[in-house]
Amino acid sequence: MKRVRSTASSGGSEVREATSVGATFSDGPPLGKLAPSGGSALHEVKSVGAIYRGRFAPSPTGPLHAGSLVAALASWLDARAHGGSWLVRIEDIDTPRCVPGADALILQQLAACGLLPDAPPLYQSQRGPLYQQALDDLIVRGWAYPCACTRQEVAQAYAAQGRPKQAQPPGGAESYTQVSERGGLALAASGQARPRHGERVYPGTCRHGLQGRQARAWRFLTRSPESGSIAHPDTRWHDRRLGGQQQNVEQAVGDFVLQRADGLWAYQLAVVVDDAAQGITDVVRGEDLLDNTARQILLQRALGLPTPRYLHVPLVLGENGEKLSKQNGAAPLAPGQPLASLRQAGELLGLQVAARSVADWLAQAVQQWVAMHTARERAPVKSTL
Ligand SMILES: [Zn+2]
Repeated sequence: MKRVRSTASSGGSEVREATSVGATFSDGPPLGKLAPSGGSALHEVKSVGAIYRGRFAPSPTGPLHAGSLVAALASWLDARAHGGSWLVRIEDIDTPRCVPGADALILQQLAACGLLPDAPPLYQSQRGPLYQQALDDLIVRGWAYPCACTRQEVAQAYAAQGRPKQAQPPGGAESYTQVSERGGLALAASGQARPRHGERVYPGTCRHGLQGRQARAWRFLTRSPESGSIAHPDTRWHDRRLGGQQQNVEQAVGDFVLQRADGLWAYQLAVVVDDAAQGITDVVRGEDLLDNTARQILLQRALGLPTPRYLHVPLVLGENGEKLSKQNGAAPLAPGQPLASLRQAGELLGLQVAARSVADWLAQAVQQWVAMHTARERAPVKSTL
């Protein structure tokens, strides 16, 4: 099949020089205003400009299954429909959960489905110095502070405030209010609410110092260092499918972890650093990650990085109504049947494609995606979702 574009390379100069947003992908607000550069490598990509760059970012904890293929396919289709490039990033920072060889298997499965990245995959496990640099930036700017609390202490401090021990799950009314004309609760309406990176609300115990205790982790300060007692206002953003979103991160999540007590980098920091370093203009991913978006936008702002556009696609639900995942026993894609796998993934995305080869299926799917997502920008993916 015809590749629309294959010019991707991390930090390519054309990305840095581009200054305007292309007219062909107006679905969503303009890209975030760019803060002045801090002069570090993190700020190499000054503007995402008119070039579309998407990515699929799997964790190598096992082979692709029907659910993860939906996210991969949606991000690939959106990139091709916009004449953009598509990258794969292996999110292997949570090393204890990674399965040796899973990355190669995922890349093979993608290739069998005709989903070929435009550049060699990037591995987060090799990017520790970049994450350290970002953390140092945040510390200097007053956006990060050390925390000495154990999990048990966080739970006790939280309970002492008369609040439940667990964070409000995304989908709860406090976390998400859809402010688009469609109304309703974004995650609640989707019938699922299991955060991949949810964590207990941190009550801010160490904001004012460690009181002689030993630092364990680094946290992001969710209220402005200058604002004193005034809570950070709601973070608002636009999801191309779900419409307006908002979250008060301080209330819903608290000061979240940037580097864990065991030294591992937190998902939120790594994603924000890598999306910027790779010049990602459009994040297309599963709805289970919707709850992370506000945290990532706060980090982008604190680091002076651009905010990409977001499109969260529906999840494949298992028989128990929960998101299909390796944790709840989702079967890997059937080997040797890429067309059947693509058909199944395409159906969830509202695609009706009849084709006898992978290449034909993808070519038709791109045309349908253009009609659904770029020609009629406001149209929902599928009215019954
Ligand atoms: Zn603490």
